Amino acid sequence: MEAVTYFDEVREIIQEMGGDDITLCLQCGMCAGSCPWGKMEKESEFIIRKMLHMGRMGIEGFENDDVLYACTTCNQCVVKCPRGVNIVNVVRAMRSIVAETGGIPKNLKAVVGSISSNGNPWGQDAEQRTSWTKDIDVPTFADHEYLLYVCCTSAFDSQKIARATAQLLQQAGISFGIIGNEEKCCGEATRKIGAEEEFAGLAEHNINLFQSKGVKKIITTSPHCYYTFTQEYPEFGAEFEVIHYTQLLAQLVEEGKLAFNTPLAKKVIYHDPCYLGRHNNVYEEPRQLLQAVPELQRMDYDDNREYSMCCGGGGSRIWMETESGLRFSDVKVKEAADKGAEIIATACPYCVVMLEDSCKNLNKDEEIMVRDISQILADSL
Ligand code: SF4
Ligand code: SF4
Repeated sequence: MEAVTYFDEVREIIQEMGGDDITLCLQCGMCAGSCPWGKMEKESEFIIRKMLHMGRMGIEGFENDDVLYACTTCNQCVVKCPRGVNIVNVVRAMRSIVAETGGIPKNLKAVVGSISSNGNPWGQDAEQRTSWTKDIDVPTFADHEYLLYVCCTSAFDSQKIARATAQLLQQAGISFGIIGNEEKCCGEATRKIGAEEEFAGLAEHNINLFQSKGVKKIITTSPHCYYTFTQEYPEFGAEFEVIHYTQLLAQLVEEGKLAFNTPLAKKVIYHDPCYLGRHNNVYEEPRQLLQAVPELQRMDYDDNREYSMCCGGGGSRIWMETESGLRFSDVKVKEAADKGAEIIATACPYCVVMLEDSCKNLNKDEEIMVRDISQILADSL
């Protein structure tokens, strides 16, 4: 009797959280066949088809099991599923069940703890959120057209992305300001970890803050914040107009309001970030921006756009250890090197961190540079 109750409970939670089509799963295995974990040098324990079976049957096997946290929520499997199962929502729902029992991996507990106490996942003092503006003049949001929401990773870790984006917006004459220290993490990783209550707290804080300042339009530096603001905050009453910086800059280039004059005679391969591409269908704008740089030779990965392989950093994996032979970003760096690329360009701070790490681990950092598109463009102004 108990097993039946648990079955109902698990399936109900999964259905409530948007994974309601889990019952459509036929166990065909197309998802596992497209998942990057199956394409690594070493064999992985993570097989998404098995996870879905467990979710469907409501068995307790996945509890306290770190393997459920292997999924990067890259959405590759969703593109392939013939039954339209929203696999990412199912994974998120299963994680929320694990999170309620306190069974999330140790590293991720620290991430949730840091977000709760500091408002960011990087264990940094909240007061340092605007430290990236040191030595540059960035206005505080008042009655500007746009709020520039700088994600935690570019505010604390990859500050060059925040600086380059602000510089480009200023060059194009965009009316924007930042709020800074009062902001908290958008909560995307928190939700992917399964910490639903904490996510709701972050969403409510940020929405109230933005509304109290009169924000109507938001520019994001990260596709993860873009996803959260457009696809998750509306559940909490948000009605902001949100744009990723590559979309806005591509419009400005097309309108002749932004141009790049310094040539960059390099072979540049573009890595589609999952949350900009597959999750939000933004494929062409980043490519148009790279084409606008004089002398730049743009290249593509063999698997690109909706088939692009994930860097391995989504779904909170950026904070987890991954052993050599199982790192998606290593595969991306090796392919870039085989193709003779000199720069890997992307448009997501997580991808930059993951790919830079792999370049260092594979001793390719003298051969290949990793750059966010904002950096390439700012250097080419
Ligand atoms: S591809 Fe879809 S139907 Fe097939 S096993 Fe995966 S989730 Fe189930
Ligand atoms: S979302 Fe990506 S990592 Fe997760 S199961 Fe699907 S293909 Fe694999």
